[in-house]
Amino acid sequence: DTVGRNLARAVEAFPEREALVDVASGRRWTYAEFGAAVEELARALMAFGVAKGDRVGIWAVNCPEWVLVQYATARIGAVMVNINPAYRAHELRFVLDQAGISLLVASLSHRSSDYRALVDQVRADCPGLRAVHYIGDASWDDLVRASASVTPEQLAAREAELSCDDPVNIQYTSGTTGFPKGATLSHHNILNNGYFVGETVAYTEHDRVCLPVPFYHCFGMVMGNLGITSHGACIVIPAPAFEPAAVLEAVQRERCTSLYGVPTMFIAELDLPDFAAYDLSSLRTGIMAGSPCPVEVMKRVVAEMHMEEVSICYGMTETSPVSTQTRRDDDLERRTGTVGRVLPHIEVKVTDPVTGVTLPRGEAGELCTRGYSVMLGYWDEPERTAEVVDAGRWMHTGDLAVMREDGYVQIIGRIKDMIIRGGENVYPREIEEFLYGHPKIADVQVVGVPDEKYGEEILACVIPRDPAAPPTLEEVTAYCRERLAHYKIPRRLRILDAFPMTVSGKVRKIELRAGYGE
Ligand code: ATP
Ligand code: MG
Repeated sequence: DTVGRNLARAVEAFPEREALVDVASGRRWTYAEFGAAVEELARALMAFGVAKGDRVGIWAVNCPEWVLVQYATARIGAVMVNINPAYRAHELRFVLDQAGISLLVASLSHRSSDYRALVDQVRADCPGLRAVHYIGDASWDDLVRASASVTPEQLAAREAELSCDDPVNIQYTSGTTGFPKGATLSHHNILNNGYFVGETVAYTEHDRVCLPVPFYHCFGMVMGNLGITSHGACIVIPAPAFEPAAVLEAVQRERCTSLYGVPTMFIAELDLPDFAAYDLSSLRTGIMAGSPCPVEVMKRVVAEMHMEEVSICYGMTETSPVSTQTRRDDDLERRTGTVGRVLPHIEVKVTDPVTGVTLPRGEAGELCTRGYSVMLGYWDEPERTAEVVDAGRWMHTGDLAVMREDGYVQIIGRIKDMIIRGGENVYPREIEEFLYGHPKIADVQVVGVPDEKYGEEILACVIPRDPAAPPTLEEVTAYCRERLAHYKIPRRLRILDAFPMTVSGKVRKIELRAGYGE
């Protein structure tokens, strides 16, 4: 189905239930109101000349207008392009140009970003960009007001031309391993994926889901927004960008039943000094995804946030995103040690990264996925698409995984992050999980750095619990010596107060490697 028709069904089934709440501004919409606001904006975009297939950029922090733009562009067959709110001028210029964006909706400003000033810097270089509208400014009102010149019949005629296989979205990957790539996704791709993710955690119209993850990323807009509205549940926006106290405040005030986050967000919430003061008794579930979820964090979330479960998802932007997910009836071991089982209507296999031969269960290799979820392709980059999607439509994820006998999948790490030390394959994740147990270590990342003798040597980058008393290299190696094979023991140590992160909450290991030795 198309995103627009799916929303229309929720509006018809649950007109009086809440669809969207913005805690920061106190604004709220029922499904009937939300559907009407989406329709108004859809007609307005048509009035501004947005045709089927045209690219509309959204460059904004989390706010209700972001969600309205998502559904309004889908209703008129436009292709919404999510732009990372942390981008600077040269990155913005790249995306505007690469995706051929003709109309841009942007925030005015947030923290250190003055979006209007950044747009002004690049505008002259982007002749294809015809109009820019800023949320919360007169130019937004001008946009919405234009809806009067397009009739509901004209909108219906446009909708009749749409197919569920049309592109609806270009989502750039997080840029963890290099420059972001624009995954082009259809209605069919992302609507189905959101629906099945929501179904796995059993959303109904009674659920209220707190979303501190950025909308610009698939976690927020697919597993979040589409996963929520396809089940008639309610989107709760705690704040424009992540603030741990605002998240817990929103859960308490809005009686949220579900909470999303990348692992570092849950850690920040659990570590708030007044954590115990918040009433989180309404929570029943949550989703943690995006990067490896440390077992200790999982256990604390379930125990201290009163959840019956927290679901782990594994996926990537190119696959809409989710391929595997833990289920409600999974025990703690499955929920903490794996990324769950494959979702309905998706296939996964583990192959030898060199020969491509499918490996038996229990053996480590590259995870490949196939099904409705595989992207249409990277926007305007057929060669790069062909490098990752093969002729049989299998997506080669670049992630190392094991499928266990029971069908549960374990992610070992990215193939690119694997360290080859003196001919031995070393998986950083294993060492990181181990070092989490060290009393002086709050957070840790392990990377390979060049070494004359071994080719690569193991570097542990540590954020100490107490900045005044960081662990020494001798302490770290002594701790490892008892329980890790000698070739897995870090021989280099770097103490940091923070890791370089992407906006979607992932650690940029390439920067940790590059920064070593400076
Ligand atoms: P880029 O492709 O631009 O380098 P990226 O791969 O981080 O960035 P995303 O599409 O946002 O961009 O992230 C997908 C990747 O995130 C996966 O390929 C995998 O490496 C990692 N990932 C996602 N979920 C999990 C998980 N539950 N456990 C471990 N890793 C995960
Ligand atoms: Mg990737």
